[in-house]
Amino acid sequence: MAGAPAGPRLLLRRIREVMAEPVNAQTRLDKIVIQIASNMVAEVCSVYVLRDDGRLELFATEGLNRTAVHLTTMRAGEGLVGLIAERAEPLALSEAQSHPAFSYKPETGEEIYHSFVGVPILRGGNTLGVLVVQNRAQRTYLDEEVEDLQTTAMLLAEMIASGELQSIAPAGAVISLRKARSIKATPIADGVGLGHVVLHEPRVVVKQLVAEDSKKESARLDQAVAGLRASMDKLIDGDDHTGAGEHRDVLETLRLIVNDPGWSRRMREAVMTGLTAEAAVERVQNDTRARLQRSRDQYMRERLHDLDDLANRLLHELTGQPFVTANEKLPENAIIVARTMGAAALLDYDRRKLRGVVLEEGGASSHVAIVARALGLPVVGDVRNITNLVEDGDSIIVDGGVGEVHVRPPADLESAYGEKARLRARRMEQYRGLRDTPAVTRDGVAIDLHMNAGLLVDLPHVEETGAVSIGLFRTELLFMVASQFPRLGEQVKLYKSVLDSVPGKPVTFRTLDIGGDKILPYMRHYEEENPALGWRAVRIGLDRPALLRYQLRAMLMAGGGRDLRIMFPMVAESVEFDRVKDMALLELAHLERHGHERPRDLQLGVMVEVPSLLWQMDEILARVDFLSVGSNDLMQYIFAADRDNKRVSDRFDPLSPPALRALKLIADKANAAGKPVTLCGEIGGRPLEAMALIALGYRGLSMSPSSVGPVKAMVLGLDVGEARAHIAPMLENRDGARSLRTELQAYAEAKGVPL
Ligand code: PEP
Ligand code: MG
Repeated sequence: MAGAPAGPRLLLRRIREVMAEPVNAQTRLDKIVIQIASNMVAEVCSVYVLRDDGRLELFATEGLNRTAVHLTTMRAGEGLVGLIAERAEPLALSEAQSHPAFSYKPETGEEIYHSFVGVPILRGGNTLGVLVVQNRAQRTYLDEEVEDLQTTAMLLAEMIASGELQSIAPAGAVISLRKARSIKATPIADGVGLGHVVLHEPRVVVKQLVAEDSKKESARLDQAVAGLRASMDKLIDGDDHTGAGEHRDVLETLRLIVNDPGWSRRMREAVMTGLTAEAAVERVQNDTRARLQRSRDQYMRERLHDLDDLANRLLHELTGQPFVTANEKLPENAIIVARTMGAAALLDYDRRKLRGVVLEEGGASSHVAIVARALGLPVVGDVRNITNLVEDGDSIIVDGGVGEVHVRPPADLESAYGEKARLRARRMEQYRGLRDTPAVTRDGVAIDLHMNAGLLVDLPHVEETGAVSIGLFRTELLFMVASQFPRLGEQVKLYKSVLDSVPGKPVTFRTLDIGGDKILPYMRHYEEENPALGWRAVRIGLDRPALLRYQLRAMLMAGGGRDLRIMFPMVAESVEFDRVKDMALLELAHLERHGHERPRDLQLGVMVEVPSLLWQMDEILARVDFLSVGSNDLMQYIFAADRDNKRVSDRFDPLSPPALRALKLIADKANAAGKPVTLCGEIGGRPLEAMALIALGYRGLSMSPSSVGPVKAMVLGLDVGEARAHIAPMLENRDGARSLRTELQAYAEAKGVPL
């Protein structure tokens, strides 16, 4: 059948005509398979559609027994059709029956056909079905024929995706791509959000698949590729380029692909099969997506994002549609779905309309996650392929507590979640009711509940939660969302606005904690083998004193005439504190010489994050005004388990004897020395852990805003004297105990301590 007589363009036109006919779906599909078979001079053409239960069902055939339609089914992976669906790749064989995967379905009568070619019906990288052509004679199918079949499959994909075929599916079988889906995800920020999908990078929806004039389409494609090339050059080499580091690397990779002749050739070939330039871009990208998604190679999977990005840019170039940010038409109850996004981009959305964030990539410590948490939004990450599974406006539920996304949920699930969200809102209301109640235990011990913050959007939460102060202000977040290193004046303004926004309440500023995974896009970044153990936080400040002194100067200027507290992250030796304190005092003297008002009271402290400090407690306590335990880092270093590596970060429990003994040692030493100590890691915000910490001697805990209410409720129900008497002995003689969690939970339950 070399050189199909009618050619693919004619076939596409015929199919389009059939698509427009006012007939029912089965008749339409039956007509389409006849057209394809005749166009390809084949005896058989069949369409298998993937059902919700994972089986492929024969929906239409020309050539096989008609009685098998809607009866013959196979699993993905079963037989040649199943193999194509599973691999999402075409398969052409001159002798199908000798292929090891061949599985005989007697009801179809296919034993008389020898050669076989099948292609997956793809949309958005998802397999929706399989299109098969068979010939009685043994023959070799040409690459162009396979290509043509793939193009035809694209039209079928549209038909399946439209939901039209559902009406002819047997009772109980659900086939639509737009079915309800529940997808496991990594929980990043707690909470439940119900709403509608807003794609952070809106896709161009290709409506016209079949071209009138292929030459014209080919020219349009060439022009668009050239336009894209020029704009990439401008982005990378142009004067206005401010991005550096990672951003630049990504652009360089994109430019390499744009200049790769193979990339544009594949699209041009697709245009020659009769598609419009836009449809050709989508077709090629569909194949690429299906292929790369299955790749075990992480690098290859990451390239897929680059290719997706390029295809999207090219579609914008072709249609002349500008990259409108979804922001401009943000609906109420918006759930942002993004492959990845920067922290600043999230802040651009109207916060009042946001209900949640779903990220295809991005873990709990990604910058956007930190910002989303600050905005009080539920967030999940690691949701593979989500940007292709949803469309703008789809209903969606984000469960940031369990780590789940429900796309187009059925009504009962939606109402169950609605109830869950209402319950949560009611609980939040109860916590808000505690706002003005002092956090004092049942036996009269006052516990200071502070709040962690890092962005200006966090600040109203101090008032809302009734936190006594900002116990940790992570200054690097302001630097991370800036496009360039903030100048002195800007920094002064930022710190002043932080102080101004919480009048009468202290703020503990932490100096820049960059390095490791916290990268400033405008600062030179050094690749390190072990970033968590590398050049980060105060180490950078010690080696580049100008940077730290600049920041200290800004803080001291902002704190003129007021109380000011500054602490230093990642101090490993007491003498490091001497050096940074000297810098602060030098800056203070400098400012005084220039007539600036000095802070009314300046307190300098150290974060206990590096285990070496545990054996220098006396030396460090003799020097500092206060300590703050950064338990996130302290635990990662004590247990040698990277906090951002999911494989190891859960291997240990902070409620295990070694962890609790270390935390007790710090509290005992600080209390004995009469120096205030707080804890500002994540565990301070979890009621059970907070209960243990209070029993160990901590009287100040700093936590994210949403934790203040639950921890206060726990404090109000706790008897510290009793808890201490019960818990302290748990730490003795605990050979082999990996965690005291269950025992602590049992204690809280027995005593009615709300967790
Ligand atoms: C910590 O390490 O516990 C801490 C509070 O600092 P960060 O989480 O910002 O490293
Ligand atoms: Mg830390």
